Amino acid sequence: MSVSAKRIALAARPKGEPKPSDFRLEDYVAPVLGEGQVLLRTIWLSLDPYMRGRMNDAASYSAPVPLDGVMEGGTVCEVIASNFADLAPGDIVLAHSGWQTLAVADGKMVRKVDTSLGPISTAVGILGMPGMTAYTGLLDIGQPKAGETVVVAAASGAVGSAVGQIAMIKGARAVGIAGGKDKCDYVKNELGFADCIDHRDPDFAAKLKAACPNGIDVYFENVGGAVFEAVFPLLNFFARIPVCGLIAQYSDTADSTPKWAGSMMRTILTKRLAIRGFIVSDFASRRGDFLRDMSGWVKDGKVKYKECITDGLENAPTAFMGLLKGSNFGKQLVRVGPDKV
Ligand code: NDP
Repeated sequence: MSVSAKRIALAARPKGEPKPSDFRLEDYVAPVLGEGQVLLRTIWLSLDPYMRGRMNDAASYSAPVPLDGVMEGGTVCEVIASNFADLAPGDIVLAHSGWQTLAVADGKMVRKVDTSLGPISTAVGILGMPGMTAYTGLLDIGQPKAGETVVVAAASGAVGSAVGQIAMIKGARAVGIAGGKDKCDYVKNELGFADCIDHRDPDFAAKLKAACPNGIDVYFENVGGAVFEAVFPLLNFFARIPVCGLIAQYSDTADSTPKWAGSMMRTILTKRLAIRGFIVSDFASRRGDFLRDMSGWVKDGKVKYKECITDGLENAPTAFMGLLKGSNFGKQLVRVGPDKV
């Protein structure tokens, strides 16, 4: 049986910020299932900043998307046909099947979603990769202690919102940085951060300083660029910096390389800062702890999450380009298909 579907391919490698012509919507016919494979119907596609890196032909921790290849991405899917003993039609699974309406996957490469833990979209959000990134990066690297100040940028987003809330659960004082009044109000009033500063405010650096009278003990790095320059002088001795992402720099070209790297390295030495890069998969063994704690916190209302939903696969490029500039408000998802058909 052959089934027709739609997918979005990488049409060109972006120079600087991605533009619509870098993506191409295509019709295609899903291949016939082989032994051990499953046919998946995409329900939710997760859009994540790392995808910008996959569009470049550059060495990284993962291979780039090939030109004309399907854009990569995490998905929540329904199994609609199965040649794999452990999965049956109707099962909901977490996959990495990319920007397409249907996908054929190796049954061993997908994971059944525990639908009792929350809405299935959370499997790519607060109970999935972004939530686990916040949990492991903050607890295993940042190690916040009661009374300390934890600062996180992109604070209304998928990772940042969880970072601040986990910091508060651990007794720390959370200060967020976000773009615009609405996001800052949400971070303060709904998530309960002690403060949230707009990084587009002309007095951003002074306001951040005022919001952190005891300096910064943990800076969870999500953005880099100008935000990091404002944070840097406020770091306390023995501050910890989980370096999670640098979204402000993802579309940089060779001409826009920051000039403060030299002074940064000197301060790392003199203040004995622990700056450690990490990738969430480094902490794969913590998945059980994460799911237990995070699903409990969400159920108890200690951790709230927000989703930003775009309807239709064809709108994924626009949503993704917006994500890189802050037009998403919460975890960016694309509803590719209904939960049930
Ligand atoms: P978000 O949901 O937070 O969306 C991205 C946000 O980044 C935008 O909404 C915008 O928020 C902010 N942003 C964009 N450009 C700038 C800028 N120039 N300066 C300041 N803020 C900016 O995304 P995620 O929570 O999914 O990801 C956050 C970070 O975590 C990213 O850097 C990502 O690459 C990283 N990450 C790393 C992982 C790892 O394993 N190391 C895993 C998952 C994510 P605003 O409007 O508030 O500025």
